[in-house]
Amino acid sequence: MIGIFTNETSFFNDIAEEIRLFTDITDIEFIESEKDIEAVSDYDMLLCVVLDENDNEWNVNAHIVDGESYSFKYSRVIGDELVIKRYKKRCMKIAAYRVLRKHFDMNIPWGSLTGIRPTRLVRELLINNSAEETKRIMREDFDVTEEKWHLAEEIVNVQKDIIASTNNNDIDIYIGVPFCKTRCLYCSFASEVRSKKTDMGAYLKALKEDIRLGSELVKKYGYNVRSMYMGGGTPTVLTHSELEDILSYALSVYEGFGKELTVEAGRPDTIDKKKLEILKKLGVNRISINPQSMNMKTLELIGRSHTPEEIKDAYYMAKNIGFDSINMDIIAGLPGENIDDMENTLNEIIEMSPENLTIHTLAIKRSSRLKERLNEYPLPSGKDVDIMLEKGRQTAKKLGMKPYYMYRQKYMRGNFENVGYAKEGKVCIYNIDMMEETTNIMAHGAGAMSKRLFDGEKRIERIPNPKDISTYIEKVQIVSEEKNKLFMV
Ligand code: SF4
Repeated sequence: MIGIFTNETSFFNDIAEEIRLFTDITDIEFIESEKDIEAVSDYDMLLCVVLDENDNEWNVNAHIVDGESYSFKYSRVIGDELVIKRYKKRCMKIAAYRVLRKHFDMNIPWGSLTGIRPTRLVRELLINNSAEETKRIMREDFDVTEEKWHLAEEIVNVQKDIIASTNNNDIDIYIGVPFCKTRCLYCSFASEVRSKKTDMGAYLKALKEDIRLGSELVKKYGYNVRSMYMGGGTPTVLTHSELEDILSYALSVYEGFGKELTVEAGRPDTIDKKKLEILKKLGVNRISINPQSMNMKTLELIGRSHTPEEIKDAYYMAKNIGFDSINMDIIAGLPGENIDDMENTLNEIIEMSPENLTIHTLAIKRSSRLKERLNEYPLPSGKDVDIMLEKGRQTAKKLGMKPYYMYRQKYMRGNFENVGYAKEGKVCIYNIDMMEETTNIMAHGAGAMSKRLFDGEKRIERIPNPKDISTYIEKVQIVSEEKNKLFMV
C-alpha cells in the first residue's frame, strides 16, 4: 500500500495518478495528518507533497519518507479561483512526478501529464503562447519526451482544419449497440454477449425511441448534424433486418447523416456480403474491420472467434462492394505477443492497405477478465511495447498515413497512447470531434454519453445513458428529459 500526505487535499487524486504512472500498486491511501506519518509503518512508500505560498511564489516540496525529495518553485499565478486551482494542481503534479521519477529511476513518455489529452493541452497552450514556448512548456515543465511532443504537434496540425470547421450548433450523432459475439479477454466495456436469451427486440425498440426523442431535440433547438457514428460493442452483431431497420430509422428521423456515416463492423465473423451491401445502400461511407492481431494463437487467446483469413476475406469483400474508407484497429502489447508477432500483423496490414489504422496499446482495465487472471498471461515488457508502437508508426508512414487523433487511458502498458492514423483526406471527423471534445454529441444507446459544449470548449456538460440494458430500456424517457435541459438553447 502507498500513503500520500498533502496539505492540498483536493489534489489527492491527482497525486495518486502520478504514482500510478510508476507502479501497479493500486492501493493508495490518504494520510490525514502529518503526525500519522511517523506512526505508520506498514506502507510500501509514503509520499508527502506540501505547498507553501508567499506573495510572490508557490513552492511545492515533494518527498518520499526516508528517500528522495524535490522542490518545485513557480511564480504565483493571479486569476480567478479556477485558474489558480489549475496552476496549483499543475505544480503539485510536477513536483510529485519528479520525485517519483528519481525514486523509480524511470522516465514516463508523457511526463507528468495525466487526466488531460496532450493534444488538447497543446491547443490550449497555443492560444496564449508561441509555438516555441508551447514546446518548452511541454518538454521542460511537463517533461514530455521529444518524440511524444512531435507526435502531439503533428496531430494538432492535422486536426486544425477539422476543428476550425465545427460550429457551436454542430452536433454529432452516436448510436450504440453494446452487444458482441464473444467477450474479448481485455474488454472492460459494458457490452453483453448476444445469446439466444438476448431480447434484442426490446433493446432496439428503446433505441429507436431514444433516437426519435433525440432527433426532435436536435430539430427543436436548431442543431446541425455533422456526422453519425454507429459503434458498440459490435453493431454488425445485429441481423440484416435489424441493422437495416435501426440505421434507416435513424437516417429518416435525422434527415441524413451530415458529412460522414461510420459503422463499426468490428468483428469479421459478424460481417457478410448482404450486411455490407445494406450498409453501402444506406450511405455508410466509413467502416471499421478490426483484427487486433493477425496471429491465430493470439486471436484464440484473447477470445475472438475468427481467423486472420476471415479478416482478410471481410476486408476484400468490403473493398469489392465499394467501401473506400476502411479502418483497422490493432493492439500492441497483447498477451503472448512479441515483436515478431507485431511485425507479422503489420505486414498483413501493409498488404491490405486500409485507409485508417488505429494502433492501441493494451490497457489492463479493472473490469476485464485479463485483470482478474493477470498471472496466467505473459505480457510483453514496456520496452517491447515501445518498439511495437514504433514499428506501427513506421508502417503507417509506409502506407502514406499521418497520425490524426490520439488518446491515453489508465492502466496502459508502458504509459503510452492509442493513435489513429489516416491517409490523406481520410480522417474520421467523428473521432476528432469526440476525442478532442470540440463538438456537441447526441448519444443514443445503453452507456452512451451525450455532451454539450458551452463557451466554445471551455465548459462541457455530460448526460450518460444508463449502462445496464434493462435500466436503459426503462429510463429512455427520463434521460431524454435530462437531454432536453442539456441541449436547450
Ligand atoms: S469487440 Fe470490443 S466491445 Fe466487444 S468484447 Fe471485444 S473489446 Fe469488448
